[in-house]
Amino acid sequence: MTTLTLEQETNPWEAQAARFDYAAKKLNLDQGIWKVLRYPTREIIVHIPVGMDNGSVEVFTGYRVQHSIARGPAKGGIRYSPDVSLDEVRALASWMTWKCAVVNIPFGGAKGGVICDPKKMSQGELERMTRRYTAELIEFIGPEKDVPAPDMGTDEQTMAWIMDTYSMHTRQTCTAVVTGKPVNIGGSRGRREATGRGVSVVCDQAIQHLGMSIQGCRVIVQGFGNVGSNSAKILAEKGYTVIGIAEYDGALYNRNGIDIVALIAHKKAAGTINGFTGAEAADKDELLTFECEILIPAATENVITSRNAAQLRCKILCEGANGPTTTLADDILDDKRIFVIPDILANAGGVTTSYFEWVQDRMGYFWTEAEVNQRLDSIMTESFSDVVAYAKSHLVNNRIAAYMLAIDRVAYTTKQRGMYA
Ligand code: NAD
Repeated sequence: MTTLTLEQETNPWEAQAARFDYAAKKLNLDQGIWKVLRYPTREIIVHIPVGMDNGSVEVFTGYRVQHSIARGPAKGGIRYSPDVSLDEVRALASWMTWKCAVVNIPFGGAKGGVICDPKKMSQGELERMTRRYTAELIEFIGPEKDVPAPDMGTDEQTMAWIMDTYSMHTRQTCTAVVTGKPVNIGGSRGRREATGRGVSVVCDQAIQHLGMSIQGCRVIVQGFGNVGSNSAKILAEKGYTVIGIAEYDGALYNRNGIDIVALIAHKKAAGTINGFTGAEAADKDELLTFECEILIPAATENVITSRNAAQLRCKILCEGANGPTTTLADDILDDKRIFVIPDILANAGGVTTSYFEWVQDRMGYFWTEAEVNQRLDSIMTESFSDVVAYAKSHLVNNRIAAYMLAIDRVAYTTKQRGMYA
């Protein structure tokens, strides 16, 4: 896996494909199935006209990539960011297939994205863009086809607009078309915090597995959005000491622990973590290399690369974000014996509770938050054990173990269904 050029190193699709090929080879995967699973099933590109507030019309480019429907409807988030590219969406769609298989829920994988800067758009512009994007995809999404969810730059409100637009077109309220909705229109209790909760569960498991203690366990989190802030909040509630938070525009450090609830309130009011008085300002890139027990990248891809991996001083790297670590960095982390909880396991709490939301919508019967959390905890605990046991029995690292486990499950189903080829 060390033959990648630097340019390939930061291409998420190449990074995904390199891990897939390595794991498929280890599995001795049948050549035909290898080719089928390596590429997405369907890639849709749309150019969306949007009436802007100043009276002009802007055209945004959007994607939806469905990687696999072998194990169930395609499932995956929608990202709004200026950096969205087809290769990124392809990689994220494949990761969704592997993630759903790691936690053994009946979904395939998909992802969507629109190239835009949501921070610079009004609510009205975002709503019009979301509705037109949904309308362009109308025949490709649906509870039995492809079920979107929030990702970077999108939230519960975005999902409510998608649900409403889809329902207007199909002439009936259809809540199960998306997950991550507000609770009063078919959302699941616990979904908002689910990815962070899942991150906290696998951290608990890793601590136990490595014979460490929560007491005095220092955590640094990059990204203070949905995943980062909820991971930090739940870990702090469990007794971990969150000593550092990095955002795109600055970072905070307090060796005695940051009051996460107060920081969430500060960010809500100020729109940034900067200016928070309960911690000192730090360099956002250097913070990742500060000494800690657990480092949680929970922002975006390619933040741990061959350029900074050697400087990391954590014992556990728990990947809240998708694709935060490049393949070249993987080798360095292996050499440093850092215990990696790979993204397709660590952040699977979100899609697991999305699965619960889809089930509840289809039943029309809603669970208590305690029921949701208890079911999530047991799936994350079991999946952690599966991956660690697989790594041990196949003498591979946790990331390759997670890929092998997932590919094995998807390949098995593909064979069982038979190929329409
Ligand atoms: P979000 O938009 O709510 O938050 C992302 C945060 O990261 C923002 O606060 C942003 O300012 C910050 N950020 C962006 N680039 C940064 C950088 N270079 N350095 C530091 N901070 C940066 O998004 P989210 O939903 O929390 O998603 C974060 C990551 O987790 C993504 O990789 C996403 O694919 C992954 N993920 C999200 C979910 C979910 O349920 N939301 C589930 C699984 C995986």
